Amino acid sequence: MTTETYRAVQVTALGQFEPVERNVTPPPPGEVRIRVEACGVCHSDVITVLGLFPHITYPRVPGHEVVGKIDALGDGVSAWSIGERVGVGFLGGPDFDCVSCRRGDFVNCLHQEVTGVTTDGGYSEVMFASASGLVAIPDELAPQDAAPLVCAGVTTYNALRNSPARSGDLVAIQGIGGLGHLGIQFARAMGMRVAVIERGGDKKELALRLGHAGVQRTAERSSDGRSAAPRTRRRSVCPNDTGRGALSHALGHGSVAHKSC
Ligand SMILES: [Zn+2]
Ligand SMILES: [Zn+2]
Repeated sequence: MTTETYRAVQVTALGQFEPVERNVTPPPPGEVRIRVEACGVCHSDVITVLGLFPHITYPRVPGHEVVGKIDALGDGVSAWSIGERVGVGFLGGPDFDCVSCRRGDFVNCLHQEVTGVTTDGGYSEVMFASASGLVAIPDELAPQDAAPLVCAGVTTYNALRNSPARSGDLVAIQGIGGLGHLGIQFARAMGMRVAVIERGGDKKELALRLGHAGVQRTAERSSDGRSAAPRTRRRSVCPNDTGRGALSHALGHGSVAHKSC
């Protein structure tokens, strides 16, 4: 035990945030202690803030798009070293012991913690995470770029990877938010052509910059909040590759690889 402290932001009750200072403690067995470098803000953080999962106990620190460096190892942790750069996503790590794990279905582990929901997450200078839930993050990837990849990134990447679409195919991405803007870049890096479907034109410039091949504007909202008929329907070809850089770089280096699997 040390008297050193770290700062965190915790949810104390539904909709209530509180900055706190906690003592730095050793990691429990099977876990590592991480000095957090960046934590993305995901819409799913609302699960903790508004109590949308059963049996959440408060106070709880949200945040499940975490990148940082390991600075202490709990007993029994041998696959990771102090100083390694790691990411922690929504799923806190399988136990490798339950029926699902023994069938190789680690995502549906019966005893898996949910980062920032059932355990404290990354809205903090220090967090603790199960060694089985860590992914390796290369040093050349900036923490703020890497953090969203461990939730929004893996979600869109796996959706594309497991879809029937292949290089040269046209894929449609609906909505250019935290996930969609990554989906465009993954699809382009995979050699797919991308059509963006969005409401209104607010994200058009971003979509063009990331490298989509077409615009399909859906109904816009009128002033009374109801959907109105589309004003324009446009389709264009824009072989803009500028958005490929960061993610093809990441993919090329295997940045979000499960070290434990
Ligand atoms: Zn998320
Ligand atoms: Zn399991």
